[in-house]
Amino acid sequence: MELQYKNDNVYEKSNEIEDINSLAEEYKTFLNSCKTERQCAEVGAKFLEKCGFVKYTNKRIKAGEKYYVVYKNKVVMAFVGGKKGLDKGINIIVSHVDSPRLDLKPHPVYEDSGIAMLKTHYYGGVKKYQWTTVPLMLTGVVVRKDGTKVRVSIGERDSDPILYISDLLPHLAADQMERKLREGVRGEELNALAGIIPYRNDGEDGDEEDIKKPVKENVLRLLNDKYRITEEDLITAELTLVPAIKARDAGIDSSMIAAYGQDDKVCAYTSLRAITDISKPEKTCLCIWADKEEIGSMGVTGMQSDFLVNFLDRLADNNGVKVYDIIDNSVCLSADVDAGYDPTYKSVYDVNNSAKIGCGLVLTKYTGARGKSGTSDAPAELAGRIRKIFNDNDVVWQMGELGKVDKGGGGTVAQFIANRGIDTIDCGVAVISMHAPYELTAKADVYMAYKGYKAFYESK
Ligand code: MN
Ligand code: MN
Repeated sequence: MELQYKNDNVYEKSNEIEDINSLAEEYKTFLNSCKTERQCAEVGAKFLEKCGFVKYTNKRIKAGEKYYVVYKNKVVMAFVGGKKGLDKGINIIVSHVDSPRLDLKPHPVYEDSGIAMLKTHYYGGVKKYQWTTVPLMLTGVVVRKDGTKVRVSIGERDSDPILYISDLLPHLAADQMERKLREGVRGEELNALAGIIPYRNDGEDGDEEDIKKPVKENVLRLLNDKYRITEEDLITAELTLVPAIKARDAGIDSSMIAAYGQDDKVCAYTSLRAITDISKPEKTCLCIWADKEEIGSMGVTGMQSDFLVNFLDRLADNNGVKVYDIIDNSVCLSADVDAGYDPTYKSVYDVNNSAKIGCGLVLTKYTGARGKSGTSDAPAELAGRIRKIFNDNDVVWQMGELGKVDKGGGGTVAQFIANRGIDTIDCGVAVISMHAPYELTAKADVYMAYKGYKAFYESK
């Protein structure tokens, strides 16, 4: 009988190298087309249709039937009917598809010294200095004056120009280098360069008016040519700058994946893949892609909203069961990333209680900060039950905590779901350089997330 526990590296234990590598390729393709929650909702819905899921229309759900709902263009809910009744509970996995980024302000375009610039307001917890001098793409939607909606995309295709936020050259950065790192680049300094060509009114349209800001005018005209939008349309738009960098293999052994937005698209992708690969589960299974996690899960598309309970209510009504029975008997994995142990910065990690990249799917019993404040802290019965599912299905997993006690902390959507009365535990993938424009995961962990989520969905 083995008394001592050993944390395993996936490659020491598993012979699924081909599966690990092929899932990594598919995951990278997904990441390249899904930088924002809107893109995720579109691509996710298409993928679900391809896998035989149909839009849910308030029907009674039979075992093996596959449905999905897209809520307010940003949230995806996919579900598969179980053999047991809905009142026996649902196996739920919730991830989020928003990631830290730089949103445009309502009045973004200005001209300064002959250069057209775009003002941004960062979204989520970013180290601002990391967002300068990286290629950025502009993406989002604009609702025009007449109510029509247009999707904007500049920098997504290889032939597109990218957007660029400057940083000071070291030669002139003596003062900047004295700043604290937190202030190294300030929020109001995250301005993107948008153009330098002045608009020339050669009298073609008979307009004699003197254009005071010709470079800004030219940028607005280019946007108008392409999208039929005006400066006033930008005021109510939802436009954002995200890294225009493709996902790449990382490491001399190609064991890792570097990409933007892996928090939390790594859990989103693997949980969706898991639900599309199950056929007739014992319990009904539900995969949710939520929005707004990075800014506190507020708003109609965040997990603090009532949309999940309203949806369960709808399912209950349509299936002749009580919603409180669904809630009482459901189990939820809050599928979000955890901080991967980083040997360069080991002083902030408790080595025995940190997740290591390459050592499998991470269970996190509690998150929070300063004495577990703000966590739902999963009970031992639930943690033990999930652990057994993983062990019974050869899922390589580990327990992880977010850094040393009192070194910092963080939260996930787990608390908001647990607060509704649903048994919830955090379970995701370890990430290095979380919230940076280019984050790092291990291919083996991506695969174990898929495998673990599938085992959970198939559990009784
Ligand atoms: Mn996250
Ligand atoms: Mn995050």
